[in-house]
Amino acid sequence: MTENIHFQCQIECSHFCCGGATVVSLPELKNFYRFFPITLAFQKVYPIDSFHENYIKDITFRYADFYIIGDFIAGNRFNKKCRHLKNSLCALHGKTKPLQCKIIPFSVTFPEKYQDIVIKEKRKLAFKNCKGFMENTPIIWNGFFLEESLKSDFEQLRKGLMSQRDIMEKIFKASNKSINFSKFLLSKSGIFELPLTEELINELFYRGYIEDPVDFLKYQKSLFIRELMNNNSKNSIFSQALSIIEKINML
Ligand code: SF4
Ligand code: SF4
Repeated sequence: MTENIHFQCQIECSHFCCGGATVVSLPELKNFYRFFPITLAFQKVYPIDSFHENYIKDITFRYADFYIIGDFIAGNRFNKKCRHLKNSLCALHGKTKPLQCKIIPFSVTFPEKYQDIVIKEKRKLAFKNCKGFMENTPIIWNGFFLEESLKSDFEQLRKGLMSQRDIMEKIFKASNKSINFSKFLLSKSGIFELPLTEELINELFYRGYIEDPVDFLKYQKSLFIRELMNNNSKNSIFSQALSIIEKINML
């Protein structure tokens, strides 16, 4: 029998879930490129049954024996805390947060009716200290999401991932000469991170996902420089990203 999920976010523990990076989907890029340095990351997704497998076919692509999802990563995953977390509050809150942050702790890599499985796993690991799951909080899932806004954010994020699937597949396949590519294929649960290539940046402009290319490059350049100047940031992909941006003949 399906167990209801009681949940209400308690802002004072946001340092547990607002890590260094979040995910933004292709249609969200234009809203967030001024706030986060953007890179790409690939992960394997393992379906638990045929229903899950059918579901992930829309948001992943096949490579060798794997289903792989490609995401736009917003922020620096090597930082402990999101740069927009101020005094336990999200500074972007009033400006509309990334959809991924809005649907936390749920996950769009599983269908809506399997979200109890997601929560069970997350409560063992990343959300072990999350204080939101208490019996006296509202039921927000009973096999389906009960809050309209949550349902709609989940669906929007899923559609965003669907819209970027072809781009992600193309970039992933073009990266097959990289050493990290082979390491990623051999690992069970690693992350393969890449900078946005010049070709991809041009495609994003061309397809209208970014309206002002100069503004995009200007903000991204300054965000990467800022992260690289922070001694705690150890993300080598950021140096590569900066070098790609500096070579683009638009700045
Ligand atoms: S840890 Fe849980 S309750 Fe706390 S802010 Fe994050 S999602 Fe909300
Ligand atoms: S954007 Fe806001 S909600 Fe999302 S990780 Fe950063 S501080 Fe948390």
